[in-house]
Amino acid sequence: QIDEADKFEGFWRLYKLGVPVHRDPGKDFLGVSDALLKQIAKALKFPAASMLPPEAFSVVRKSFDARKFLKEPKFVYTVDMDVNKLLDLEPCTWDFIFELEPKVGEIEHLPHERVSGDVTSIIQNYRRIYNGTVPIKDGNNQHSEPHKHPTTKNPRVVVVGSGPSGLFASLVLAEFGADVTLLERGQAVEQRGRDIGALVVRKILQLESNFCFGEGGAGTWSDGKLVTRIGRNSNSVLSVMKTLVTFGAPENILFDGKPHLGTDRLIPLLRNFRQHLQRLGVDIRFGTRVDDLLVENGNVVGVEVSDSRSNLKFNSQKLGCDAAVLAVGHSARDIYQMLLSHDTILVPKEFAVGLRIEHPQELINGIQYAELAAEVRSGRGRIPVADYKVGKYISGHDADEHFDSGPMKRSCYSFCMCPGGQVVLTTTNTSELCINGMSFSRRASKWANAALVVTVSSKDFESLNFHGPLAGVEFQREFEQRAATIGGGNFQVPVQTVTDFLENKLSGASIPPSSYRLGVKAASLHELFPSYITEALQSSILTFDNELPGFISSNALLHGVETRTSSPVKIPRSAETYECTSLKGLYPIGEGAGYAGGIVSAAVDGMYAGFALAKSLDLYRGSV
Ligand code: FAD
Repeated sequence: QIDEADKFEGFWRLYKLGVPVHRDPGKDFLGVSDALLKQIAKALKFPAASMLPPEAFSVVRKSFDARKFLKEPKFVYTVDMDVNKLLDLEPCTWDFIFELEPKVGEIEHLPHERVSGDVTSIIQNYRRIYNGTVPIKDGNNQHSEPHKHPTTKNPRVVVVGSGPSGLFASLVLAEFGADVTLLERGQAVEQRGRDIGALVVRKILQLESNFCFGEGGAGTWSDGKLVTRIGRNSNSVLSVMKTLVTFGAPENILFDGKPHLGTDRLIPLLRNFRQHLQRLGVDIRFGTRVDDLLVENGNVVGVEVSDSRSNLKFNSQKLGCDAAVLAVGHSARDIYQMLLSHDTILVPKEFAVGLRIEHPQELINGIQYAELAAEVRSGRGRIPVADYKVGKYISGHDADEHFDSGPMKRSCYSFCMCPGGQVVLTTTNTSELCINGMSFSRRASKWANAALVVTVSSKDFESLNFHGPLAGVEFQREFEQRAATIGGGNFQVPVQTVTDFLENKLSGASIPPSSYRLGVKAASLHELFPSYITEALQSSILTFDNELPGFISSNALLHGVETRTSSPVKIPRSAETYECTSLKGLYPIGEGAGYAGGIVSAAVDGMYAGFALAKSLDLYRGSV
């Protein structure tokens, strides 16, 4: 129950305000249009929209909804109403505020403005609060001068990996005054771009600088989707988003229902991130691979590194530290092996494997938008390039009768859908082959690709005779090697049209074109995986076609294989301190440790780990 007087405090949040597409100024407009004001008035049961002052409302979220059952496609808004601005301007509006009652999912009362800023401003506030000098207030996006820790010797922290988790952990720790060294086996974005160019054009794979390894981690040459399942409106996600904005991301990522950056925006953003870390005193070393941990009396006291380009281990160097943050992603399989040599506990975990499907983007636009598809115009139009998300729950004996212990529950779902994107090679080894998708900010390519994957777990690994903590890694590798063989080598990807895959027949010479630049080869993809995976994919595709009629098309091409959807391993750690439970002084974070599944969740994990470690290192009391 809300006290009547409280209704005049803070904000009211109004959800699900739908504006028909033909009345909306378009996907890039984030202001309050007349059409939106009408919907607001309707939600408030306020008689005259024209009397509502637009400046009292601000857009929190905007997404496009073209689901089939809607009478017409619409933009759906979440809007905050600043009660004070209403009171100042229109005394006659008081009555209707008295009438307002929160309704779940429609109207919510936010008694105070949300406290969330970018990481830097949060830490500044945090330290002021901790030092007892300043009350909580919202942060702004200013950056600070480097902090000086009051003690002469700052704690030394080594962060291994410059993906989103490693970058955010480094940022928080450096802002708190730790002496941070950030080690990255791959190259800075400038050189990495050249290495990726050589891979795509001349088929030269640099083992240490590619789509997985290098500045920004696996997500740099990606679609840069910033959607996450960990709570879009949580303060931690907002902090990550605001931090990305301070480094150059467009502000609309704060409002867009499905925010994305695209590779072209990620590269300058990462350069700004790097320069900020360097200004804070972070020693960033590219081309520096961590080969081993230095452990004394069960404690990590340092790392052994070597020059990843020369690959000469005798060049190795030892770096001492008070704590090592391990943010290596899930393609650093050598690191998992190294951890086992120190008796670190690794636990196999469920993940998903499958194929990447690619359709002409126009076909997906047509399926999703019907006649409205013409408005897309390669990302320049009023409505976004169409995407999709499909999923199917699979159970029963059909798919799993090879297990003695009865049926297993599985699901098959689309993953990492890249509208207007391209299929890319995410292999880090010449004898293996796996793929993923990326796009540029306009999503203007002719193709739409997405992974179609089936969940797998320990029982599946065992069925292929893979046991132990790295059974899942071996399971991935098995299919990556098969794909490399079936593809015929030289990074050619095996492909089959969806129609042929459903009929178990080889696609002939007339396979449709693919966005994959290193070459494709017609192959029998149903021979790649065990039958329970192939059959799960086949039956799911039939279901997906019911949802998206036209999904099954001879113009849709399946590419093999998609194996690195999430980590096949978890490294147990303390929920409070983030320290590894089996090795002191080690802080496993991000996707490779099993605590994230995308850019934003990895960044959030890195941020929280930074806070936890700063606390353990007693850095909270540093000077403001
Ligand atoms: P990573 O980003 O994998 O970073 C780990 C870093 O550690 C790497 O840079 C690596 O070089 C370095 N490293 C590894 N071993 C060592 C070592 N021994 N010494 C030194 N450095 C080391 N997610 C999304 O949310 N949206 C997307 O659109 C999206 N698209 C993707 C597209 C592609 C092509 C790929 C490959 C992934 C995509 N992902 C996407 C997934 C996302 O990139 C990852 O979830 C995220 O990057 C994980 O962050 P991380 O910091 O945990 O690890």
